Amino acid sequence: MSRFFDTKIEFLKGVGPTKAELLNKELKIFSFGDLLQHYPFRYEDRTKVYQIHEITGSMTNIQLRGCLRDMRMIGEGRKKRLVAHLVDDTGEIELVWFKGASWMQKNIKVGAVYLVFGKPTYFNGKYNIAHPEMDPATEGNQRPSYLHPIYPSTEKLRARYLDSKGISKLQKNLLIEGYKLINESLSQQLVEWHQLISKKEALKSIHFPSDQNVLRKAQYRLKFEEFFYLQLRLIKLKLTRVEKFKGQVFDSTTILTDFYNNHLPFELTNAQKKVIREIYHDLKSGKQMNRLIQGDVGSGKTIVSFICMLIVIGNGAQAALMAPTEILADQHYKGLKPFADELGLEIAMLKGSSRKKARQIISETLADGSLQILVGTHALIEDTVQFKNLGLAIVDEQHRFGVAQRAKLWKKNQAYFPHILVMTATPIPRTLAMTVYGDLDVSTIDELPAGRKEIQTIHKYDSNRLELFGFIRKQIALGRQVYVVYPLIEESEKLDLKDLTDGFESINRAFPEYQVGILHGKMKADAKEYEMQRFVKNETQIMVATTVIEVGVNVPNATVMVIENAERFGLAQLHQLRGRVGRGADQSYCVLMTSVKLTKESKNRIQTMVGTNNGFEIAEADLKLRGPGDMMGTQQSGILDLLIADLGKDSAILDIARQAAQELLKEDPNLEKEENAPIKLQIKNQRKSSLNWSRIS
Ligand code: ADP
Ligand code: MG
Repeated sequence: MSRFFDTKIEFLKGVGPTKAELLNKELKIFSFGDLLQHYPFRYEDRTKVYQIHEITGSMTNIQLRGCLRDMRMIGEGRKKRLVAHLVDDTGEIELVWFKGASWMQKNIKVGAVYLVFGKPTYFNGKYNIAHPEMDPATEGNQRPSYLHPIYPSTEKLRARYLDSKGISKLQKNLLIEGYKLINESLSQQLVEWHQLISKKEALKSIHFPSDQNVLRKAQYRLKFEEFFYLQLRLIKLKLTRVEKFKGQVFDSTTILTDFYNNHLPFELTNAQKKVIREIYHDLKSGKQMNRLIQGDVGSGKTIVSFICMLIVIGNGAQAALMAPTEILADQHYKGLKPFADELGLEIAMLKGSSRKKARQIISETLADGSLQILVGTHALIEDTVQFKNLGLAIVDEQHRFGVAQRAKLWKKNQAYFPHILVMTATPIPRTLAMTVYGDLDVSTIDELPAGRKEIQTIHKYDSNRLELFGFIRKQIALGRQVYVVYPLIEESEKLDLKDLTDGFESINRAFPEYQVGILHGKMKADAKEYEMQRFVKNETQIMVATTVIEVGVNVPNATVMVIENAERFGLAQLHQLRGRVGRGADQSYCVLMTSVKLTKESKNRIQTMVGTNNGFEIAEADLKLRGPGDMMGTQQSGILDLLIADLGKDSAILDIARQAAQELLKEDPNLEKEENAPIKLQIKNQRKSSLNWSRIS
């Protein structure tokens, strides 16, 4: 891009210091280039002019053409307003202004013909439009039909006339001079192969589309470019990592073979075997592994991670497994300990609540290498925890950890970075994985162990509670156990906690013949542990809990998951909770309880849950409903702050752009070819312009 676009925004015609400051503050627009990249987020179709008799109740903004028949100011003080009437050949409609009434009165004329734009509402038996836009429809102003751009703006900006119309005016001023200075930022080859319009045309048409077709082409071109550069960067990052970071070579499989032949309690699924092969390939490659396993709840990630530990230990190194909660760490430890014992391996657990004495022993045995497996919570990453030779660090439910916490694991081995395996049961669609985990390799366990019965998901309104209790009673009579979960989004919310305890009491009253347990985040660690163990041993039949049981908990005899106020949970969370049942051989059920009043979005979520058990389908639906930023939480959303492309909707373009980036790097890894000079330049410019770059780093 020409230096012209680095010019400070205050020097643009129509801006000046005051507006410049507002644009800086409110929209982070500092330069001409920033303004040019401030794209409309939608367009109003003003290609059609309606007739007044066509107006119906369900219309959004529409355009009318008619003569202003009369106008007058009525009311006093705060009720003062300007009321006018517009007529065309088919009828009349009232126009009204509460704000800026005097200004409008001075600027429109009775008897003149106007193009009027606004949203009609039905009030007191007739239609009116409040605060319509008025444009004189004189001979000289026979506007061609067009798509009106709507820009992100704010209250403060609008007060300074920097609404969509105002911003559009600035874009026009900018393009008058700037248009000819816009350089092509992709190679000619890419432009031709992908039949893209030029950068110039795309930028002009994104702000001033002459019709839908042109707009689509402009959007496609800009989305393609945005994805292309994002992918180029991610692929490059990964290539560099692979080149730079050596990994310990772990190729002996003696312990692994012993385990396979003599101790494996079940046949692995093909998906599990495939993932283990992928990991083994990494471990013996001499490069550091950085891999994500995504697999639906219950797909058997734990055993896969254990088998990988065995490879590492068989080669004389140590392994660590970090889980986000103490309950989950306990469960992993208890699940793996018998295997470790059979194989003659040393395993220990470290939690925040671990005693000094235990910590000391762990410290010593870790340092001399006799402790081979350490399971724990984030207590694992404290600086005092030092390994002799950590060969593999595994992070379970990785989305619960921050990037910084994961990075600390890397530093647990000075000679070589440990191989890293992160696991998630929140599967994300492939498109998102490619981007969010752009520099991770992704393995997917896309198959559940044989013999699992599909969980049946049922939606019930609160008024059906008696029926629900009857159902629970039947299941318990069959020997099964039940979870009842209440939302406790913020563990500090007193109200939620009251819901939970009220629920606990009413269930206690309804089931005097059974034992009922309670579990929430505010309880002390040993109280939690005690309640959990009682449930595991079937000493309690019903567990009333908050989402502390959301991740990982494994009690195969539990077959009913009742989720109270299900409308308050997100899709990913509902799916996680549902995954707590269906872990044994018996038919399991998930009951979603909601009030009768549901928003469209809640209804949509509930229907998705009832409709599918497939985590990937749910993740896709979630992405469409909520958008990627929300889905990943703020920690990872930085990368997803795209200017125009949308990971939820534009996955097809992403695929194409990624492929293009891959091919380019294969043919010209250092971008040395003459024809790729524009790409090289663009990358250089992006690096310089901290704003753009910070948006995706
Ligand atoms: P997740 O992927 O949700 O972490 P787990 O690793 O907790 O799932 O496994 C869920 C349950 O399935 C465990 O009880 C585990 O022992 C069992 N399991 C794992 N793999 C298999 C398999 N191949 N065949 C039968 N059961 C399996
Ligand atoms: Mg798990």
